[in-house]
Amino acid sequence: MNAIGVDVGGTKIAAGLVTPGGKLLNEARYPTASEPSELLDSLARAIGEAAANDDTDAACVAVAGLLMAKESKVVFSPNLRAIEDLPLKSELERRTGLTVTVENDANAAAWGEFVFGAGSEVENLLFVTLGTGVGGGVILDGNLLRGSQGAGGELGHTTLHATGPRCGCGNRGCFEIMASGLAIERRARRAAADKPDSELGKAVAAKGFSGEEVTELARKGDAPSISVLRETGVWLGIGIAGFVNVFNPEVVAIGGGAAAAGDLILEPARREVYLRARSPSRDLAEIKPATLGEKSGMLGAAALARNASGWIALEAG
Ligand SMILES: [Zn+2]
Repeated sequence: MNAIGVDVGGTKIAAGLVTPGGKLLNEARYPTASEPSELLDSLARAIGEAAANDDTDAACVAVAGLLMAKESKVVFSPNLRAIEDLPLKSELERRTGLTVTVENDANAAAWGEFVFGAGSEVENLLFVTLGTGVGGGVILDGNLLRGSQGAGGELGHTTLHATGPRCGCGNRGCFEIMASGLAIERRARRAAADKPDSELGKAVAAKGFSGEEVTELARKGDAPSISVLRETGVWLGIGIAGFVNVFNPEVVAIGGGAAAAGDLILEPARREVYLRARSPSRDLAEIKPATLGEKSGMLGAAALARNASGWIALEAG
């Protein structure tokens, strides 16, 4: 049966009706409201519109933040305060008549890549998304790793550097602060200050500089931009190496905006994993780009919605 996947971001809500094969049939979008009751209204409306006249009976809402999936509750979402502690499941079930589950957005995206994308051929997948922050999800033997409270798989706040820069979570040197899109931007500003006459130096001095420009400049051969991506790739590899040792994945899929840098960031990461992770795990793990792009969260949420009755035993397909 078709199911609804909802991706709730800091600025927009996207709800999609998805077939079991991963085809998006219908989509509804709303801006993310900053007031709790309006947010529930727009979520219910988006789900209703995406469902249209389909006989779907399940929806999964994927939210950025720390979740207690068992209680279907978002306990901490720095970019989406209005959603914290809302009775999402009971309210949305009452308003839509569907069975509703709640999932962390990176876990949903990991599940999307596992069912439909870069991990569809394997049973053990590590998914890392490099956006403004770093999200992640782990699939082991075909099951989404959630831990005892559903808060597991939070790869982005693993400490990589004990005395590193301060992360948004309050800790220092998290994976997120060392290897995210924001980390690229921070390094780019530092490199630009060192080499103001480089292309990167000029770009940073111009108005409206964003981290995405670093990839464009690196592709054109700008040396400081290449170094910024290489350094970020090294930290990415340091983070992944630990996870490769722990989880022994077949595929490590890298998604999110910063993954657009491709091999400029993935090659140094692969090298670092090879140097730091143990054999045979390091020899097996294939580090490659995710394939679903920004739709991974919605598609994965829809696939998870179909498993709504079995929170504990989630099987693929
Ligand atoms: Zn952190």
